[in-house]
Amino acid sequence: MKTLEELRRIEKRLRVAREVEAPRACSVCGQRMMIRLTCNEDVIGLMRWMYGRELIQVALPHWTPQMREVLISGTHPACWEQLFGGDDQ
Ligand SMILES: [Zn+2]
Repeated sequence: MKTLEELRRIEKRLRVAREVEAPRACSVCGQRMMIRLTCNEDVIGLMRWMYGRELIQVALPHWTPQMREVLISGTHPACWEQLFGGDDQ
């Protein structure tokens, strides 16, 4: 459990950095994706999901399911497609 002071520090850092490393590495390519935080809603939503244990679709309703998947499992949209996409090669 983080203290309010710690949470404020994390939020401040995120607002300045404007990006965050995915919590998990992609299970396909092993790389961690940098997730861009384009607005304050992204920062607040991320905090609420990570530390407030809010459901990701509630915390970040404006994100695509693919972007939420990067946060949850680390899997890149392109790698996901490689796994489950059609046989278009
Ligand atoms: Zn990947």
